[in-house]
Amino acid sequence: MARATLTIDLDAIAANWCALDRLSGPGTETAATLKADAYGTGVVPVARALAAAGVRSFFVALAEEGAALRRVLGPGPFIGVFSGHMEGDAALLRDAALVPMLNSPDQAVRHRAALPDCPFGVQLDSGMNRLGIEPADWAALGPVLGDATPVLAMSHLACSDEADHPMNAAQLATFRAMTDGRGLRRSLAATGGLLLGPEYHFDLARPGIGLHGAAPFARGRQTLRLSLPVIQTRSLAPGETVGYGNSWTAAAATRVATVAAGYADGLLRALSNRGRLWAGETPCDILGRVSMDLITVDVTDLPEVPDMLDALGPRQTVDDLAAAAGTIGYEILTALGTRYARHHEGRA
Ligand SMILES: *Cc1c(COP(=O)(O)O)cnc(C)c1O
Repeated sequence: MARATLTIDLDAIAANWCALDRLSGPGTETAATLKADAYGTGVVPVARALAAAGVRSFFVALAEEGAALRRVLGPGPFIGVFSGHMEGDAALLRDAALVPMLNSPDQAVRHRAALPDCPFGVQLDSGMNRLGIEPADWAALGPVLGDATPVLAMSHLACSDEADHPMNAAQLATFRAMTDGRGLRRSLAATGGLLLGPEYHFDLARPGIGLHGAAPFARGRQTLRLSLPVIQTRSLAPGETVGYGNSWTAAAATRVATVAAGYADGLLRALSNRGRLWAGETPCDILGRVSMDLITVDVTDLPEVPDMLDALGPRQTVDDLAAAAGTIGYEILTALGTRYARHHEGRA
């Protein structure tokens, strides 16, 4: 069977959540952000494992993701929706008891008209200028909200992965100016914000990437192993080339192994001639272009070619692979393909 295997360690994900939870004081609840299929790792088993570990609040990007998550979690846990209340979402939000994070005056009007009895949060723009209610609109929102109080006032940091960036303090000041003294339950920190220190923690933190032990929480446990089956090996004489575009030429006699995964599986084409796979402790450089279903690597130094080579594992983290591809761990995770045989190990 020439199918690559992705193993997801649910105990490591739960341990990372516990480690993130310990970064803040007892007054801060630690939620879990599980948008995009739990960053590509499988929302059903990951949500179950986190709920078993004690997570009571979850966030997703879309109402559809929230409805799917509600089916996994059952009634009880809080599920917040970052995209708020979009046109046409009312039935989904109501039936799945989702809490939209309203991000514009229009959304506030829509929510109050369609679901006057359903709880909501607000997403405030403290400077990122991506999603959220601007300070002037927030100041003017009183009449729309009437006597309804948001269950959460949140904002998002643009530069929290750079601890010294002045944007962090600027956004903190703006968020406080928008929310101080109003008795609101507040949330500013994702993974990066949790690492910035207590003044960023407020009542609730909502890490996502840190659950997977990737930057900015690279000290977390590794959660993934991605093993690719070797389907052919061959010997090249000096001067022979490998793969599309002849982008690699053998300078010396070389043994090349071909493994069964490629950019259709999330192993980005940018890894061509740059990334490596691992045979235990031995690195095997990627030779030539990564193609849709196949990657060719240098196995000249291996006494014996194993059945599988690792793209992720003890010797290569999500961040290592991201660095080789010139991207970030978030993109490596969410690009993980659907063709892998997926095994969720551990609890749940
Ligand atoms: C994705 C996201 C998060 C989680 O961020 P991480 O950096 O993955 O911890 C939190 N809040 C919002 C609004 C998001 O979009």
